[in-house]
Amino acid sequence: MNSTATTRTPPRSARNASCCTGGLVTKVNHSCDPNCGIRLNFSGAHNFVAREPIVAGQEITFDYAMRNYTVEHFPAHCQCGSRHCRDHITGWKDLPGQRKADYRGFVAPYLPDIDNQCATMHHTSQQKG
Ligand SMILES: [Zn+2]
Repeated sequence: MNSTATTRTPPRSARNASCCTGGLVTKVNHSCDPNCGIRLNFSGAHNFVAREPIVAGQEITFDYAMRNYTVEHFPAHCQCGSRHCRDHITGWKDLPGQRKADYRGFVAPYLPDIDNQCATMHHTSQQKG
């Protein structure tokens, strides 16, 4: 491959395809104190739902832990700047219990389901042991 091929602007159709494949979720930044949450829509995809009033021009944010059980690809410090910043972007698994309660109704439903399954398995294994 020659070097000009790697820097050339892709055709419009390719740019449109790459811009749309990830949906809106790839364009919304993380915050540890987000103004949006996640709800599943009729197709099983994630919709953003406001957790608080959002004014025109304000950036919309969500917590990556609202849709990911674990997050391992953000090793650096979180830069969201919120007063509730937990310093590292973590998944649902590593959220404090109070934060999970704060996010109730604004996270992908499979996350609390995993917690419940883990609690049941833990409880069952304790009874056996
Ligand atoms: Zn943060």
